[in-house]
Amino acid sequence: MSHTCKSLLMHCMDFRFGKAMKGFMEEHRMMDDADLVSIAGSAKNIVNPETQAFALRQIEISKSLHEMKEVNLMNHLDCGAYGGRKSFENDAAEYNKLTGDLKEARDIVKEKFPELTVKLWLAHIEEQEHEKKIWFEEIA
Ligand SMILES: [Zn+2]
Repeated sequence: MSHTCKSLLMHCMDFRFGKAMKGFMEEHRMMDDADLVSIAGSAKNIVNPETQAFALRQIEISKSLHEMKEVNLMNHLDCGAYGGRKSFENDAAEYNKLTGDLKEARDIVKEKFPELTVKLWLAHIEEQEHEKKIWFEEIA
């Protein structure tokens, strides 16, 4: 059996996305074919100089051990590592910060690993009393 995988998925540790994340991985053929990095704030760790080396090291290990070719970076709305939805002035400000960090993280990853493909994702979450709706948007 081959000891290689197609991609790496870096996402937030947030438990609310568990089942939806499984669906996302199945839809994008990542199940059993992606290394997983589950870390609070996800792309924030690549952008932040204090945690950047650690986050990039995960990508390096995935690449050298499993010959992974594609990095998927995923942020999500209402992320506690960003202070949650309430810490932003409005929805647009939150969206811009989360997607801005994703794009900055992509540039950093591409500079260090030019041979890797980098895809960006934003997970949306809407919570009502008894219901939770989650969907995934690809960021260009
Ligand atoms: Zn989070």
